[in-house]
Order: sequence, then C-alpha cells, then structure tokens
Amino acid sequence: MNFEVMETEHFLFHCYKSDCDIVSDIATMVEEKVLSVSLVFSVPPLGKKIDYYICPDVESFIQLSGVMRDSYESWMVGNTDWDNGRVCVISPRAVTDRSPADMYKVIVHEAVHVVMDSFCNPKDLPLWLTEGVAVLFADQTPETLDPEQAPLISRLSGSSFASLGGYKYSGAYVRHFLELYGADVLKKILTGEASADGYIAEGFEKEAAAAFMNRCK
Ligand SMILES: [Zn+2]
Repeated sequence: MNFEVMETEHFLFHCYKSDCDIVSDIATMVEEKVLSVSLVFSVPPLGKKIDYYICPDVESFIQLSGVMRDSYESWMVGNTDWDNGRVCVISPRAVTDRSPADMYKVIVHEAVHVVMDSFCNPKDLPLWLTEGVAVLFADQTPETLDPEQAPLISRLSGSSFASLGGYKYSGAYVRHFLELYGADVLKKILTGEASADGYIAEGFEKEAAAAFMNRCK
C-alpha cells in the first residue's frame, strides 16, 4: 500500500497522496482535542508517536485495523488497536453515508480513544465511560437529546450499546459525571482504582440528558 507519512505532535498520520489535504485540515483539530483531554485527565506523555492510518477504502481498513472481515459492518468507520499501537479510519472520501464533518469527528474520536487507552485499561471499563469520553471530546452528541428516552447505563453493554443509543447519550453522561464529581474521580474510575457503580444514582441518565439540553440556556 502506498501510504505517505505526515507527522504531528502525537501522531504519524499515514495516508494516500489523495488524502494528504484531509490530514492537513484536521491535524490541528486532532491535536487540540488531544491537548484538552490530556489536560482534563492529566494524561502522562505518550512514550512514542502513534501510527494513525487514513485508509483509502474498506478493504485496506479491514486489513490494517484488525477488525475481522466477518464481523465488519458498514457503520464501522474507525478503530483503535492499542495492542498494535495503531489507529485506523476509513478516508472521509471513501465513506458515502456520513458527511466529511462527521468523519472529521470520527478521526478526533479515535485519537481521544488512543490517548485515553494509553493510561487506562479499556477492556475492564464500561462502554458508556470509554465511548462517552471519546464522544464528548469529539463533540459527537447530537443537538437534541430526549431525557425520557435516555437509556439506562446498566443496559448499555456489549452489542446492545449502539442500538440502545449508547453513542448518542454517553457523551452527555460523561459530561454530567464530570459536572457532579470532577475529573479526579472519573480518572480514578478510568484507571481502575474505583468503580463507577456507587456514583450512578437512580435518575442519573435523565438528569444528564436534561443537563445537556440546558447547557446553552
Ligand atoms: Zn469509540
């Protein structure tokens, strides 16, 4: 595969020549969000730069991301593989069902994941937390959330996460958690020193969605 390499503070972006302009456009945004998340959670410096592939098509995404061909679904456009120190997204040019602006957010989302994964163990954490942090910092929460439809955190696990609205609501849940308890408590949970269970009171999900809707009033 004919990847060119473009270097930023935290990443080595690998992209086809036809996508170099995309990397130039998003590099500043990605680094700004990485700085925000690093400041909020006092993330230790990364030991080395992370390889970030902008895959020119689905085929190269499957080959490079480690996503199994059989389990690939068309909504999967980004993947973080910390074991191999590699992030992959499909080029915004090769994705037809999302706008370039949405794909730029996906690129930030995966960058946030890899930075957070460098000091937490994502496999031991609830999805609403790991996904919620990435959704929150990538500004992927939709404009409108319905508190009455907010899914219960206890149900947001495994394969039902996406179908129950996990991606839609989890950023607002993390945002509300930060408002209530602060980044230090959240960091303890993310690093496995504490559990989130004791902090999630009944009605938290509705409250979080309502607080998100009130944010600009
Ligand atoms: Zn994610």
